[in-house]
Amino acid sequence: MWSFANDPEFQPELDWIDTFVREEVQPLDYVLGSQWNIHDPEFERLVRPLQAQVKARGLWACHLGPELGGPGYGQLKLALMNEKFGMSRFGPIVFGAQAPDTGNSEILAHFATEEQKEKYLKPLLANEVVSCFSMTEPQGGADPLAFETSAVRDGDDWVINGEKWFASEADAAGFYIMMVVTDPEAASPYNRASMFIIDQGTPGLVNVRNYGFYGEPEDTHAHLRLTDVRVSASQMLGEPGQAFAIAQTRLGGGRMHHAMRTLAQATRAFEMTCERVVSRTTKGERLADKQLVQASIADTWVQLRQFRLLVLETAWMADQGKDWKALRKNVSAVKTVMPKVLNDVASRALHLHGALGLTHELPFAEWVINSFHVGLADGPTEVHQMVVAREVLKDVKPEPNMFPSYLRHDLAEQARVKFGITA
Ligand SMILES: Cc1cc2nc3c(=O)[nH]c(=O)nc-3n(C[C@H](O)[C@H](O)[C@H](O)COP(=O)(O)OP(=O)(O)OC[C@H]3O[C@@H](n4cnc5c(N)ncnc54)[C@H](O)[C@@H]3O)c2cc1C
Repeated sequence: MWSFANDPEFQPELDWIDTFVREEVQPLDYVLGSQWNIHDPEFERLVRPLQAQVKARGLWACHLGPELGGPGYGQLKLALMNEKFGMSRFGPIVFGAQAPDTGNSEILAHFATEEQKEKYLKPLLANEVVSCFSMTEPQGGADPLAFETSAVRDGDDWVINGEKWFASEADAAGFYIMMVVTDPEAASPYNRASMFIIDQGTPGLVNVRNYGFYGEPEDTHAHLRLTDVRVSASQMLGEPGQAFAIAQTRLGGGRMHHAMRTLAQATRAFEMTCERVVSRTTKGERLADKQLVQASIADTWVQLRQFRLLVLETAWMADQGKDWKALRKNVSAVKTVMPKVLNDVASRALHLHGALGLTHELPFAEWVINSFHVGLADGPTEVHQMVVAREVLKDVKPEPNMFPSYLRHDLAEQARVKFGITA
């Protein structure tokens, strides 16, 4: 049956998450540094007790399906939960749902051997360690076929050389999952690379420098250099040549969660804007009474609802049994719209708060910058637009004649024939 209502049994959980995030988790954003810095004594003191409450409530690390050892909430519920987690920088890690660990645990659950699961997946799901996912290289991010970091086999080991770029949380990570070329001559370029699990501290793996951007509490995106990094063959994740397939496995769910967290950030900007426009007066009336301000409020509300529906519809389709490959058009559509929604909503919020909106007292400039982050990470917008267009057009048949088949006089003639109209 059609319904846009939340599952009545799940609604109390969402309400609990909402209150918990607003009252207990959001304050952490103002006093702690990077949320991946899990060995900071203040993290132990302030975050661990909140994680314990989440575990006791049965809401910890909900992203894995039952076939992968998780509770199996499904994508729709996960989307609704991420909409709450995203209201705070610390929301995801308090619920065991932070990137890149969610995606990494998904691919470990899918592809790891039992030994690898024991060593890497278990502590990752318990947040005893955090992890890093490293594909991008300095010479090419959006084109994975340009990757050059390579491994050669040497007895029971692989020896890796190359450079990686924008490897987020590399310093905090207990291990890296890294895409490395192992068979440069493979018939399909998509079978050239394999995935390796590399322990933090492996000799030859050096962090050249961390990069950061406006609004982040610390610089955590690493430029890595690998010089004769030796890993045992047992450190390969999945089969040789399987890296692209593995990477695809993690990206669908991850993009959806990211979308709902982005929606949460945009929604916070909107809530603040609404409060401001009914509070501030100019020329004898509230900002909310100015028609141009009303247009901005209306546009924002509609844009948020449209985006939310697109994400939830995609999540719902995933719950109907469609895999991420079958849903690539929808997922890429979500990824395409996400940066624009955040950019528009955060920019309007900044502008309607006047000079105050631009200052460090309010988060809008950070969120505008974050819109560029979400437009780049996991592939730039243009690449996802290409996917949407390709998928939309792939089954469309070309018209062999000079003129389109839908000219009015042709359609009218066909209709007359169909209905036996002769006059
Ligand atoms: C905050 C953040 C965190 C990240 N974390 C990680 C991480 O943990 N691990 C990891 O491996 N990577 C990570 N990345 C890297 C990210 O995946 C790349 O930035 C992204 O794939 C784009 O690659 P690039 O930066 O090299 O840009 P380029 O590939 O140089 O692209 C630059 C621009 O060129 C245009 N462009 C590129 N390709 C096309 C095309 N085919 N058609 C039309 N226009 C195009 C787009 O405008 C694009 O923005 C992160 C990035 C950011 C911003």
